[in-house]
Amino acid sequence: MTVVNARSLQQALEALRVHPGAKLVQGGTDLMVEVNFNRTSITDVVALRLVNELRRWHVDEESRSIRIGAGVPYAEMERAPLAHLVPALAQAARTVGSPQIRATGSLGGNLGTCSPAGDGLPVLSALDAIVHLQNLDSIRDVSIHDFMVGVKKNVRKSDEVIVAVTLPLRTGVQGYAKVGTRNAMVISAASACLVHDSTAGSVRLALGAVAPTVVRARAAEAWLASTTPLVGSPRITSAIAKEFGQRAAVECSPIDDHRSTAAYRRHAIAVLAERLLMRADASAGGAANG
Ligand SMILES: Cc1cc2nc3c(=O)[nH]c(=O)nc-3n(C[C@H](O)[C@H](O)[C@H](O)COP(=O)(O)OP(=O)(O)OC[C@H]3O[C@@H](n4cnc5c(N)ncnc54)[C@H](O)[C@@H]3O)c2cc1C
Repeated sequence: MTVVNARSLQQALEALRVHPGAKLVQGGTDLMVEVNFNRTSITDVVALRLVNELRRWHVDEESRSIRIGAGVPYAEMERAPLAHLVPALAQAARTVGSPQIRATGSLGGNLGTCSPAGDGLPVLSALDAIVHLQNLDSIRDVSIHDFMVGVKKNVRKSDEVIVAVTLPLRTGVQGYAKVGTRNAMVISAASACLVHDSTAGSVRLALGAVAPTVVRARAAEAWLASTTPLVGSPRITSAIAKEFGQRAAVECSPIDDHRSTAAYRRHAIAVLAERLLMRADASAGGAANG
């Protein structure tokens, strides 16, 4: 086995070319579990931990967007200044594993594993993120919706590194919530991310752990937009929030497994979507951010 400790993105890309099929490792919080349980066999490893380019983020004021390196750890996302820029991402980051996992786990790893229960992915979906992939020859930008293609399957090619994601900076309330078998250190049985864009007047809702990939509740989003003015601070009645939740629940295709039942997951989505929308209500003061 060869282990390459890449010190730059260029070195990582070169190592992937020299060792085709090598496994990338960032925090190792997914990969090492797979190794320990003999679920994956590894010949060569390219470690990304020392690649500083992957651990940076920056705001582009002109396009009002933020580019977050694939190796930025959750611990950085959960606190200011990132938490103020993308509140839903901070809320999701705070729910991941334990402080030890958040100190090293990354969005690159969440995308690389591509589990529908990955807590970062509903946020990327609700914000229509762009995933940036790079190999030695080219860079390509893929919509998050095209990136995820099945349970733990994505369109990344074996010689590519996920280098970053770009997210728009939105004004309006954002929220992330998940349900699991206990309150902490738990993989989602169902999760949801809601993003209100108070300038464009839209609400986006992404659902996790209730379909082969994270999915958007597009029919519920469209119904809400046709029912309620969403520019500025919306007035969300409890009846509207309830119906929104019920409509969202229809849009997922959950299964029974060791974490939950399909019926409970569908119920959980209705409740999560309803609660997240109520937090965007003007009269409630939109207290969810931060
Ligand atoms: C105790 C425990 C609790 C956990 N709790 C949660 C939780 O609550 N929520 C949650 O979502 N996850 C959880 N996880 C899973 C894991 O922490 C996350 O998925 C995390 O985002 C993985 O990031 P990482 O950097 O450690 O990935 P790694 O383990 O390094 O990599 C994961 C996969 O992605 C690939 N990869 C990594 N970086 C790149 C890159 N830049 N380009 C291309 N491919 C790449 C690797 O080859 C590998 O296939 C938990 C794990 C543990 C062990």
